Amino acid sequence: MNAPVKNPVRLRVAVHKFSSCDGCQLALLNLGEDLLTLAGRIDLVHFAEAGPLDPDTDVDVAFVEGSVSTPEDLERIQHIRQHSRLLIAIGACATAGGIQALRNGAKGAEWVAQIYSHPEAIASLERSTPISSHVKVDFELWGCPVSGPQMLAVVNSLLLGVAPRDNADKVCTECKRQGYSCVMVTRGVPCMGPVTRASCGALCPSLGRDCYGCYGPAENANTDALAAQFASQGLTPQAIVRRFQSINSQAPVFLAAADKTRMSGHE
Ligand code: SF4
Ligand code: SF4
Ligand code: SF4
Repeated sequence: MNAPVKNPVRLRVAVHKFSSCDGCQLALLNLGEDLLTLAGRIDLVHFAEAGPLDPDTDVDVAFVEGSVSTPEDLERIQHIRQHSRLLIAIGACATAGGIQALRNGAKGAEWVAQIYSHPEAIASLERSTPISSHVKVDFELWGCPVSGPQMLAVVNSLLLGVAPRDNADKVCTECKRQGYSCVMVTRGVPCMGPVTRASCGALCPSLGRDCYGCYGPAENANTDALAAQFASQGLTPQAIVRRFQSINSQAPVFLAAADKTRMSGHE
């Protein structure tokens, strides 16, 4: 990534929305008192959801939510990159194309024609793609949505002039540290935790349900072993493919796991 801003007095920060549901921006808004504290250290110069509007201004840090899904997105992301010292992609839409990338590989134009009475009014690209497919991205925060503490940690790092870090280990590690019962071992529920990136605090297992992979692939994710485990638990190949082809369907590791399942002996 570009060098962090050295001992910055204040950071000029922008938050930009692309094709998305706004949920990751809410992670920042929901910081509550912490956001008020941050307001003393950063200048939020553009954040449409919160009020400030100045999309063309130069900033130290641009947080970008959402995927590139329209012709206008293609132009706007280049403009933002040119005006931002650091560009940080937040959330599954921005890092992997998001749920809207499920259309990739389908005939998007046909779908639009079937749904809308005036399809010519819809300006939509055939594929939904992550921000890194179009411009240099300095750091990525995965998750759907990202969490407030993740956002806070990134901003704190930048204020200290150091490179931000994220936990790329598996959800299972957080699950074990918290002492939650493993839904896969105790109840035979297929769980994506062994291949999914940590940072949510093992939210779903804490509530007795399986992880469905919303934080994207962990480092060194052994998707072969998990696919074999799912098959041994009775999941059909189609069901295994759906496990990998969800919110982060275009993350290369999950895409490869789905393709391999389609072609492998699990079918
Ligand atoms: S990653 Fe999820 S929560 Fe964030 S904008 Fe996309 S759909 Fe919404
Ligand atoms: S419940 Fe899921 S995330 Fe937790 S230890 Fe078991 S497999 Fe891993
Ligand atoms: S447990 Fe899995 S699906 Fe649930 S919030 Fe965490 S990463 Fe997302």
